[in-house]
Parts: sequence; C-alpha cells; structure tokens
Amino acid sequence: MTRQRIRGFATRIPHRAAIPLILMLLFALNVIPAAAAAAPSGDPVVYLTFDCESSGVPRVLAALEMEHVNATMFLLGSWAQGHPALVRRMVADGDALGNHSYNHPLFTRLSNAAVRSQIELAQAAIIRASGGVSPRPRFRFPYGAGQGNPRLMSIVAAEGYHAYYWTVDPQDWRGFSSATIAQRVLNQTRPGGIVILHPAALGTPGAVPAIVNGLRARGYQFATLP
Ligand SMILES: [Zn+2]
Repeated sequence: MTRQRIRGFATRIPHRAAIPLILMLLFALNVIPAAAAAAPSGDPVVYLTFDCESSGVPRVLAALEMEHVNATMFLLGSWAQGHPALVRRMVADGDALGNHSYNHPLFTRLSNAAVRSQIELAQAAIIRASGGVSPRPRFRFPYGAGQGNPRLMSIVAAEGYHAYYWTVDPQDWRGFSSATIAQRVLNQTRPGGIVILHPAALGTPGAVPAIVNGLRARGYQFATLP
C-alpha cells in the first residue's frame, strides 16, 4: 500500500471507529492474545506493567501494596541480580514477573545467539533472585524493538515466551509530572489495556496512587498478565 493510499484510508475512518480497528490490528499482530478485556465478573480489566531497570522500584511497590493492587514486573536480569530482596517482595505481594532481557540491548541489532543469551541470562538471574520463580512466559523487548519482527518473535517463542507490547503509553520517561502521567494513563485506557510504566521515570512512583484510584473509579479490575 502506498503512503497516499494509507492516508486516504485513514481519513475515511471516523475517529471513533479507529479505536476498535486499532485494537483488532493489535490482536492480529498477536500483541495482546492472552490478555482478557473483562474479568469473570464482567468488569473491565486493566494490566499495569512496570519495566524495572534501575531506581524507583521500592516506591512503586509501596504504592501498589498500599492500594492492594498487583502488577506485572518486567525485570532486567542485571537489575534482578542486584536486588533480590525487591524481587522476592514482588513475589510475596502476588505480582507477576516478566523477562525484559539481561541488560537492555537493541534486539534488532543482535545475532540469534545473542538474543537467546539475553533471554536465558535474564531468566537465570530472575529465578535466582526470586528464589525459584520463573518469569516465563512473559517477555518484553527492550524499547519494544522486535515486536512483530518474525526472526525475533520466533526466537522468543522457541524460548517459551510470549512477547507483550502495550496499548497505553503515557511516555513517562519524558519526565512528566505525576499528575500528567496519571492523566495520560486515564485518558488512554480501554478495557483489556496494557499500561507501560517505568519506575525510574521521575513522576511515575508518585503517579501510581492516582492511576489506581482513577481506574478504580472508572470500574476497572486490575489483573496480571498470564
Ligand atoms: Zn526497558
């Protein structure tokens, strides 16, 4: 399809109709296959996910514990190695662990062997840090780079993982205030949404209570990624 045809196609779709279309596309790309949009109760579900790479994790965990909410924690293997107490605290809280590579390289530039090594080194580090809990089958590419790439997706699958992207991105790493991050999450969230957050972003730990309370007020149930 040429660029012009894509643009013509897009302009014929009313804005409201574009949202389910985008969701359908995400399902088609196998981005959110296992994540359900509604709880058994019929309430809409949302998945909070945190990419844990450096600072900010203790404050995020404290906020989640205070609100009695579980999230999915995508861990860098190198970070997990240095913070076993925090990893065990996540497990004790009921959070789900995920694999976010060993040290955050751009996977599109890696050889097949290097990709496998990143995944396996991180997995071993997380199992060791957590006291035996495997991050499988949850995986997230660093920068999301590799999502939909056939070579990388097939290695991830062969390693026993499902690659999770996201549908709600407040771009917290840009340095927004906590209030702005929370507002951006609330504006973007739809049933079944996967929210990506970074504990190391300046405003993110402080945004967690407002995100949780705002989503609760809109009827959302919190779930961890399968
Ligand atoms: Zn990351």
